[in-house]
Amino acid sequence: MWHAGPSFQAEVERAVALKIDCPHCGPRPFTEFDYGGELVLPEDPAATLGAEEDLRRVFVRANVAGVQRERWFHAAGCRRWLTLERDTVRNRVVGAP
Ligand SMILES: [Zn+2]
Repeated sequence: MWHAGPSFQAEVERAVALKIDCPHCGPRPFTEFDYGGELVLPEDPAATLGAEEDLRRVFVRANVAGVQRERWFHAAGCRRWLTLERDTVRNRVVGAP
């Protein structure tokens, strides 16, 4: 029976796993983070939203196939929240706003 060696396993993890570049800790595997969800900011932060509109903004997800802004919590690191932009199709971080 064939078994993947540690170098093959490391290569697969490098190719597949999502890496997040924490501004405080450096690049880390996504398993150190808790997903906080999509970040949807109101168009006008000073405007008062109605309860239904605010509920929709916070809890209803667009679940886009492409780049979306997200919040992540570095639970196994600095324990700080960060915002990033992730391509959900390729599952890669493409930037930080
Ligand atoms: Zn961190």
